[in-house]
Amino acid sequence: MSDSNPEPASASPRFLEGQVAIVTGASRGIGRAIAVQLARRGASVACIATSADNCAQTVAECEAAGSRAIALGCDVSKTEDVAARVKEAQEELGGLDILVNNAGVTRDQILLRMTEDDFDQVISVNLKGAWNFIRAAARPLMKSHGRIVNISSVVGLIGNAGQANYAASKAGLIGLTKSVAKELASRGVCVNAVAPGFIETDMTAEMPEAAANELAASIPLKRIGTPAEIAHVVDYLVGPGGAYVTGQTLVVDGGLSL
Ligand code: NAD
Repeated sequence: MSDSNPEPASASPRFLEGQVAIVTGASRGIGRAIAVQLARRGASVACIATSADNCAQTVAECEAAGSRAIALGCDVSKTEDVAARVKEAQEELGGLDILVNNAGVTRDQILLRMTEDDFDQVISVNLKGAWNFIRAAARPLMKSHGRIVNISSVVGLIGNAGQANYAASKAGLIGLTKSVAKELASRGVCVNAVAPGFIETDMTAEMPEAAANELAASIPLKRIGTPAEIAHVVDYLVGPGGAYVTGQTLVVDGGLSL
């Protein structure tokens, strides 16, 4: 009798062996966890951050996981810079199969105090940065029938006082994800977003402890998330399990947005 639910041949722990991934914002936090997870799966990883030097630890962890990794410095909001880094990553690592747009910043302020610069900066890095990479990487990803994952936020779905700029950028990423998913589907490229809730990183470390504890208590799972828990969801989307998933936003928030 034939197996009605065969395990794909690629469903081994190193199911990304031979593939090349770009991860932006890979110097720390969620980006580092994603880069190292993809390296564990066998992918060669181009780790992008504002400064290449800041990615030294991520590169070392990817190599310790048995994969190649390089560090590239780049401001994701600079279109020409991004095109040059995408080319460099392909040349150095031999192609491109996975793009994870994770780089992000916050400039929180209530609306009446938010400056034009606060707004422009956040949109430029979080939203235009992802568009820059998607445009630069689209041709090679069509060739490899690759995957794109954009790291959005639950705030892009439900909004947040004091984060009009950030929430707009993260909601924009969801629209970008759906549109590019429709455009690239016929070329075999799957494009999805992950919307984390409250995750323990340098970005959230600025929150006063009392406020963080109060927030954690309000989350149905009663704790904040870890970068590894986001990395595992990205792992699913770029692996064999994600082959028929496109245009989706996967909320990973312990129930925060319920
Ligand atoms: P982080 O501040 O710890 O790291 C941000 C990364 O982005 C760093 O590697 C930094 O170098 C890079 N970066 C920032 N601006 C850049 C630029 N102009 N060019 C290149 N790289 C740049 O952040 P994190 O908490 O790990 O968050 C990662 C992503 O997840 C962000 O997009 C963030 O918005 C999103 N997110 C985080 C949380 C959370 O609770 N931490 C929740 C939802 C979404």
